[in-house]
Amino acid sequence: MAGDLEIERILVVTAHPDDVDFGTAGSVAVWTDQGIQVSYCIVTDGEAGGSDPSVTRSDMATIRRAEQTAAAECVGVTDLFFLGHPDGRVQASIALRCDISRVIRQVRPQRVVCQSPQRNFQRIYASHPDHLAAAEAALCAVYPDARNAFAHPELLDDEGLEPWSVPEVWMMAASDANVHVDTTEVIDRKIKALLCHTSQIADADAMDNLIRQWGASVAKSRGLADDSYAEAFQRIDTA
Ligand SMILES: [Zn+2]
Repeated sequence: MAGDLEIERILVVTAHPDDVDFGTAGSVAVWTDQGIQVSYCIVTDGEAGGSDPSVTRSDMATIRRAEQTAAAECVGVTDLFFLGHPDGRVQASIALRCDISRVIRQVRPQRVVCQSPQRNFQRIYASHPDHLAAAEAALCAVYPDARNAFAHPELLDDEGLEPWSVPEVWMMAASDANVHVDTTEVIDRKIKALLCHTSQIADADAMDNLIRQWGASVAKSRGLADDSYAEAFQRIDTA
């Protein structure tokens, strides 16, 4: 397995603003502290989020892009791509595969972090249909699209984007976790990032508690010491 020292660039692909912060912002903080460049590719602007009917959906999209940009800064990320696919109607279409392949060829990451395309029956919120579709499209972009010069030929012919082969994928919210990142030192920054999503959070204290509970239970399941926090992933060799 590639150690973090061999990793220079990581691309995180998620369906909605805030997904990255629930799933992986602690690991992102650890990685950027190590000098790794982390970029975010967010498939939708999250315009179907929130519960205030007086906010127009286009205003909500603007709000959520700004919230995600602020959250990213908390964990050392300033390179964000918003693909603008419709929130609540994401499909693993050829168009989405092409859009994610474009970002992969631009960023040239050694690791892609994405959601899981498999429904998690233990935790249904992890399996929003947009998450499943965004994850499926991301995996198709990793293999074969981004590495195949003849897939989405406009990327090379019109935009000059050379094929790029991503050697590994880490899936969040996977039922078969096989790697983890100890996030004990950065848990406060993860929570700070999540709390940037103010349009989506009704109770900041409850969110703080939830994230600590999650982090602690993942740490326990991975055999870490008491009082530790962690995020776990399923690593897939895509070399
Ligand atoms: Zn989501």
